[in-house]
Amino acid sequence: MIQSVCILGSTGSIGKSTLDVIARNPDRMQVYALSAFSRMTELAQQAEQSGAKVVVVPDESALKSFTAAWTANRPLPEIRLGTQGLIHTAADSAVTTVMAAIVGAACLEPALAAAKAGKRILLANKESLVAAGGIFMQAVRDHGAQLMPIDSEHNAMYQCLPPEAQISAPTAAHPSIQRLLLTASGGPFRQTDAAALHYVTPAQACNHPNWSMGRKISVDSATMVNKGLEVIEAHWLFAMPADKIQVVVHPQSIVHSMVEYTDGSILAQLGQPDMRTPIAYGLGFPARIPSGLGLMDLMKLGRLDFSPPDFHRFPCLKLAFDALNSSQAACVALNAANEIAVECFLNEQIRYTDIAIMIAHTMETVDKARHDLSDLAAVLDLDHQARRIAEQYAQTLQVAH
Ligand code: NAD
Ligand code: MG
Repeated sequence: MIQSVCILGSTGSIGKSTLDVIARNPDRMQVYALSAFSRMTELAQQAEQSGAKVVVVPDESALKSFTAAWTANRPLPEIRLGTQGLIHTAADSAVTTVMAAIVGAACLEPALAAAKAGKRILLANKESLVAAGGIFMQAVRDHGAQLMPIDSEHNAMYQCLPPEAQISAPTAAHPSIQRLLLTASGGPFRQTDAAALHYVTPAQACNHPNWSMGRKISVDSATMVNKGLEVIEAHWLFAMPADKIQVVVHPQSIVHSMVEYTDGSILAQLGQPDMRTPIAYGLGFPARIPSGLGLMDLMKLGRLDFSPPDFHRFPCLKLAFDALNSSQAACVALNAANEIAVECFLNEQIRYTDIAIMIAHTMETVDKARHDLSDLAAVLDLDHQARRIAEQYAQTLQVAH
């Protein structure tokens, strides 16, 4: 059966790589729906080229821009609006496969809708698991969805699992697994002095040495909160406790992560730092399909290095472990505050080093008494509260500068 794919966030870095892989495998898959929050001209071009039947845009004004940008000599695709449009499309009966590649917690509701509709979900977005991993994984289990991790590290771990453990939403880690070894490039500031970090600019933070990604995840990689979010993501995906997930700095980004077994074997997945490999794995599974990558020259590469992370220079990584060890409310606060802080940093309203300060403040201030985050409304409510706390705190930081 040909897969009918909905790409949530098609104009983003993951979205574009997904379109690239689909175009290389037309006998196996086709695009059914695309979505974007901005850049309507680009979305119109994507829809024209891919033959998408449906597009989702945020509002009426975006709809007008999309319509104006349409140049093909055929009717417009069906246009749906806003969060409801995303939810409806992710659960659409014409869709078999949903690529969840919207950035931030905004992906939570549509990804959850895909889970409840029992789709094959290619999960690139990690923020939804950080905010609501329990709810999401339960929905995957309850509705028989097929969850494929696309984040390169988690995709690598998935590839290194025993076949019987390659199931969606396990309730316990496979007994033969001792540890997950989560690799981290260390980002652009791996060797930067702590004092110099105070002055780094958004352009420097977005200049990742190995990966080309969206701006938010690029800053997340620079602060290494990305690795912290990924620890929480691995916890939910593989039902693994925090103390069995080790972060390993590996500056070459060739070993994408590893699984360590009780007999001492460590299985690793290697590849070039290009998201088309995990995307092709998720789209093709269980088959291996072309991703567009050439051969990797290990001889040219020469060496692979590994070292421990520096929690002092990367306090956001420590904060993420604290959140996971503390409560779901702390994880919601971590994620929400980070989204606000990164936006403020990219707009040059706060300093790079303020990101960790804002996260710590929000984790401290948020209503930690809210232990019952078992329904989505409670999570979204706490997420909004945390965003308000972070925004207010950002004002005081701006005054201080
Ligand atoms: P990006 O910023 O390049 O693209 C984001 C996409 O989401 C765009 O299409 C944008 O229009 C859309 N979007 C943004 N805000 C939205 C909102 N509020 N509502 C609806 N749509 C919205 O991001 P990216 O780098 O492609 O990352 C996407 C997700 O995948 C993130 O969660 C990121 O952590 C994860 N991820 C990315 C990479 C990578 O290499 N880029 C790797 C692993 C995981
Ligand atoms: Mg990753």
